[in-house]
Amino acid sequence: MTETRSLFGDAPDPTPAPQAAALYVDLVFDRPLETPYTYAVPDELVSEVAIGKRILAPLGSKPDRGWCVAMRPEAPSRPCKAILRVLDPEPLVNSHLLELTRWMAHYYLCGWGQVLQAIVPAGVRRRAEAPPRRASWLVPTPIADLPAIPPKLTARQQEALDHLRTIPTGLETSQLLKDVGCSSSVVDALVERGFASKTSKPEGDLPDLAHAVGAPNLTPEQTTVLNLLEPALTGNAFAPFLLLGVTGSGKTEVYMSAIEKVVARGRQALVLVPEISLTPQTEARFAARFKSVSVLHSHLGESERQNRWRRVAAGRAQVIIGARSAVFAPAPNLGLIVVDEEHEPSFKQESTPRYHGRDVAVMRASLLGIPVVLGSATPSLETWFNASRGIYTRLDLTKRVENRPLPKVEVLDMRHPPARVPPGRALSDPLIAALRHTIRNEGQAILFLNRRGYSPFIVCPSCGETAKCRFCDLALTFHRTREVLLCHHCGFQTPPLEECPSCRKATVRYQGLGTEKVHEELERHLPGAVIRRMDSDTMSKPGSHALTLEAFRNRMVQVLLGTQMVAKGLDFPGVTLVGVIQADAGLHMPDFRAAERTFQLLTQVAGRCGRGDKPGRVIVQTLNPEHEAVALAAHHNYLAFTKGEMEQREVLGYPPYQRIIRIIIRAHDEKAADDYAARFAGACRLAHESTTPKKPLRLLGPAVAPVSRLNDYHRRHILILSADSRHLHAVARAALASCRPDGGAEIAIDVDPGSMM
Ligand code: ADP
Ligand code: ZN
Repeated sequence: MTETRSLFGDAPDPTPAPQAAALYVDLVFDRPLETPYTYAVPDELVSEVAIGKRILAPLGSKPDRGWCVAMRPEAPSRPCKAILRVLDPEPLVNSHLLELTRWMAHYYLCGWGQVLQAIVPAGVRRRAEAPPRRASWLVPTPIADLPAIPPKLTARQQEALDHLRTIPTGLETSQLLKDVGCSSSVVDALVERGFASKTSKPEGDLPDLAHAVGAPNLTPEQTTVLNLLEPALTGNAFAPFLLLGVTGSGKTEVYMSAIEKVVARGRQALVLVPEISLTPQTEARFAARFKSVSVLHSHLGESERQNRWRRVAAGRAQVIIGARSAVFAPAPNLGLIVVDEEHEPSFKQESTPRYHGRDVAVMRASLLGIPVVLGSATPSLETWFNASRGIYTRLDLTKRVENRPLPKVEVLDMRHPPARVPPGRALSDPLIAALRHTIRNEGQAILFLNRRGYSPFIVCPSCGETAKCRFCDLALTFHRTREVLLCHHCGFQTPPLEECPSCRKATVRYQGLGTEKVHEELERHLPGAVIRRMDSDTMSKPGSHALTLEAFRNRMVQVLLGTQMVAKGLDFPGVTLVGVIQADAGLHMPDFRAAERTFQLLTQVAGRCGRGDKPGRVIVQTLNPEHEAVALAAHHNYLAFTKGEMEQREVLGYPPYQRIIRIIIRAHDEKAADDYAARFAGACRLAHESTTPKKPLRLLGPAVAPVSRLNDYHRRHILILSADSRHLHAVARAALASCRPDGGAEIAIDVDPGSMM
């Protein structure tokens, strides 16, 4: 037999086969490898290995940690090496999560091990061996329980207390010290003076806050929706829903009532929200209604994150709330998944694995055979497409609760008087008048401008040169308080320019509007008003969102100015005016979703208005009043906007009619990027053309990416589009297998890309 084989040039392996083992395991590593590797298990480790544990095994020249994804008694056809050590006492993922991650690796064209590595929090991985720690936990004393004249605090102590109070359920002591940057004596002083109490608690148990707030009487529409959901909630089958509900229609109430039914059956519910730290309110609403809510914040301390993970895995959380990555929460008996604001771009992860949290949620529900509810006032066109074909069941909430009207939206054409303002000014006279009127009448206002800093462009009027980042092909933004020019992508900073770096004339102009500049203008126009700015410059400390929003809720702030942080999910009944300073800011981006995103943002920010007893007014400043994204958002007309936008997408062959895989190639050396991009595009073409029978596919590029340089890398991209998702994947997979990066080039495959930049 051996002879025959070598006759055909298939030489037998020179290394002798190791002695047969009783057990073999398949491991996947944190690398972009599609297939698992097989290893033999030495007898003394047989009792320790299990699927879902990590195992140390030789890979290439040195040992590496792999995840065990399969075990079997049969020896593989080829000789294999033996594993070295079993790292975890218990599996870190269950078989269901293994199945989900395998699908992700396949669909998002990355390594299965890379996905596993990304879904299990680092703290859980690192401490898997250690027993759960009893963390020192700090809980703020309710203000009502403090003496009428509380003891005086130093500035530092006050700062720590303010931070602690943003999280009523308390915080791990070490985390508070880290967030505030203070010493433990500050915390000790707070405890001594009765402002906080220290406890020690094992395994991430939240202090019980639930005071069983009952559901309000549901509106007729909410009742109808719940009745339609009912069979799915009590059944045992996959059932995807789109809940299309205008802003303020009570979607959260529907989620909570649905979750009650699931919890009553002893099962858990998972609620995904765009950014949990931006919506402390959501957390409070759920905590008031359910006994055990576990919130997976991004700013949890490592041991607390580990504790909560374990608590969820033990089935001791009824409701799990978190952002994108919470879709992997290891709840053992999930009965429902909710994705709130499903259209939000933040559900898409922009690094490997580049998954979409909403899509993974739908897949998880499908693997488990449970219902999933995607909710939004402005569903993404992808979700709309699925609903319009009956793949998702559509549920509608067309009215606001208590029959409150949707706010009236006035579109101000900034090209003509009276809205026109001199260059460099942000606020038109009608908007200033409305702000004054609102403050006089004890209302509150939200102002939205999606640009932070002072001036986003620095231009030389003599030679036309603009100030750009040294490492990115992007304009620098002037930040006045910090006195720097800053790159918002890589963080590069440089002192403000005295003269043009190119022609040396001392006439550089700082142009365009950022929130910092608008803040200044507001203070000029509204003397005495309390104005707060909310953007990533002012909100860099964890907990600062909650603090600002709390002050706004308590009406200590009259005007809240901010970037998209203020456009999301906020529910403040006092808001009677919303102003959009530049509706067009994102409209002309080279991205096929620019109109959709603009429409969503405008509709969402307008929806923050008039949620209380007083009706609201929305003022939108724009240079494109006729654009559908602006005009139809002003009429809250999702259906009309979507109809028109869908027609265009179909004509242009864009999602949701066709799928896209975007391939981003980067290298420090421009030629290396060009060469590899050209070869990769060639490999795609070849893979496509050698397919029989012929399938439809478009290949665009290679081209210079819209952001041509980033972090000192030159960037190229290739787009492949097809209505045939399978063919699209096959082409990308084949090209990837035949054309590995070289010469310092790197590749990222982005399936269903969110950003085209
Ligand atoms: P959406 O998520 O659709 O914007 P929310 O769920 O935040 O809406 O509800 C808007 C407001 O209406 C919230 O303050 C909520 O408490 C209140 N609300 C919801 N449902 C009802 C109801 N049936 N009766 C009275 N108030 C309700
Ligand atoms: Zn930069």
